[in-house]
Amino acid sequence: MRLLVVEDEIKTGDYIRQGLTEAGFMVTLARNGLDGHHLAMTESFDLVLLDVMLPDIDGFRILQSLREAGRQTAVLFLTARDSVDDRVKGLELGADDYLVKPFAFSELLARVRTLLRRSVVPVFTEYLTVSDLTLDLPRRRATRAERKINLSHKEFCLLELLVRRQGEVLPRTLIASQVWDMNFDSDTNVIDVAIRRLRAKIDDNFPTKLIHTVRGMGYKLEVEDETT
Ligand code: CA
Repeated sequence: MRLLVVEDEIKTGDYIRQGLTEAGFMVTLARNGLDGHHLAMTESFDLVLLDVMLPDIDGFRILQSLREAGRQTAVLFLTARDSVDDRVKGLELGADDYLVKPFAFSELLARVRTLLRRSVVPVFTEYLTVSDLTLDLPRRRATRAERKINLSHKEFCLLELLVRRQGEVLPRTLIASQVWDMNFDSDTNVIDVAIRRLRAKIDDNFPTKLIHTVRGMGYKLEVEDETT
């Protein structure tokens, strides 16, 4: 499950991201309205947690443009304003729920889970497939050509990210922040080592290679036949 958190307050953003990551979600954190707006409009998330008070574009406007663009992504508002008007406005604009700050993390997690259950029916996919590779998301299992592939938790997360964004070149810094939830220095080779291990499991015994290095830029997953 991919979640987008749009929160400009640094401590709150970090706290939410860490908690939700530990609860098993893939979390993308945007620290301002513009980034949040861009991500919400261009990528697909199962749920967006949207702070109302943002310095550039506020949460209401982000929600408004999402709905105007026909995007039905579930939205949970985080608001410090405990005024009835704001809550009504948020819900009228199409928010699915709201939570008034400060909140206990357990409360946030309960709301998130409820919303995801609600939105699960039409949009949730259990399986991701590329070529003969299949990821069974709820069971965290990968198979290629019906052969089971044993992956560590991080390897599975890395592969899931590559599959979800297939065809896109993913820079190492993006991989680091999405899979390891941290910022690596650009000279670290942690990502390269992880990719090498993943490749050995996913690609080595198969004629069709899926994981590709894009020199100087990063990695991408794409079906390319290298037998000829
Ligand atoms: Ca704020």
